[in-house]
Amino acid sequence: MIPPSFAYHRPKSVNEAVALLADLGEDARPLAGGHTLIPMMKLRLAAPEHLVDLAAIAELKGIRQDGNDLLIGAMATQHELIASDLVAAKVPLLREAALLIADPQVRYVGTIGGNVANGDPGNDLPAVMMCLNAVYHAIGKGGAQQLAAREFYRSVYSTALEASEIVTAVRIPLPPPGHGSAYEKLKRKIGDYATAAAAVVLTRSGDRIATCSIGLTNVAETPLWAEEAGKILVGSTLDGATVKKAIAAAEAITSPASDRRGPAHYRTKMAGVMLARALARAYAHAA
Ligand code: FAD
Repeated sequence: MIPPSFAYHRPKSVNEAVALLADLGEDARPLAGGHTLIPMMKLRLAAPEHLVDLAAIAELKGIRQDGNDLLIGAMATQHELIASDLVAAKVPLLREAALLIADPQVRYVGTIGGNVANGDPGNDLPAVMMCLNAVYHAIGKGGAQQLAAREFYRSVYSTALEASEIVTAVRIPLPPPGHGSAYEKLKRKIGDYATAAAAVVLTRSGDRIATCSIGLTNVAETPLWAEEAGKILVGSTLDGATVKKAIAAAEAITSPASDRRGPAHYRTKMAGVMLARALARAYAHAA
């Protein structure tokens, strides 16, 4: 289907983009890779009168280390995350999750900013960001602010961003050397969104888990940070009884819809299975 007509704007700076979005108000939407927004416009599920394309804004690009953090420009593509040696060395979880997004054609164009700002619980990076305790840098007509990923998601397509605000960068505190991580995603076929997925980052002290953070994708109206499940695992050797308790705690916070990916009960159980697999791999990788 052809999308409704719209005016196209291509600002060269963040300030220009923010001014445009503030002036144009509710009728304008930022455009990043367009791999969610354009299909939604074609399906007439979105009909913005103005698109403010962020593609020409150099400030929004790049991936670099900033002290003990990884700082990723909102317009870095998912392919750039996968190709980055820095990401592979310091935050392998991010590379692993990005590799499971859609297919190479989507990843060449889809951006990290679009993926985290979109507010779709089916997107893979939001739960990963919650697991990593990332912070989103945002700017709008009210000025700049930093928003914790763990508090960002309100409901389906609803986030803490104001209408005129854009995400400019994602800041990820580097997990300590020797940490283990894994992202396990169940999908019906290559290129599909998750039926359920789990992200884990943990550290070990000898055989015991010292810290553990867990994110869950597409099993509620928002991505989830399974705080209680992570706490249960701390101090354990990943023994069967403790894993069972942690999985029960993670499953208890899910509330997936029944849809063509399966009934709600099945998707909750698959979140548990993905979590068990991710925990085992992360534990094995941790030093
Ligand atoms: P756009 O489509 O341009 O924007 C998405 C939304 O975010 C819009 O509302 C836009 O206004 C807003 N936005 C964009 N950038 C910003 C910003 N910097 N600040 C504030 N708001 C902003 N994703 C997955 O995670 N996993 C999958 O398995 C997956 N499979 C897919 C399969 C197909 C066939 C397709 C077409 C897409 C798939 N996607 C999947 C989605 C893909 O990752 C998108 O690229 C991503 O969700 C949105 O990023 P974008 O850069 O394309 O954003």
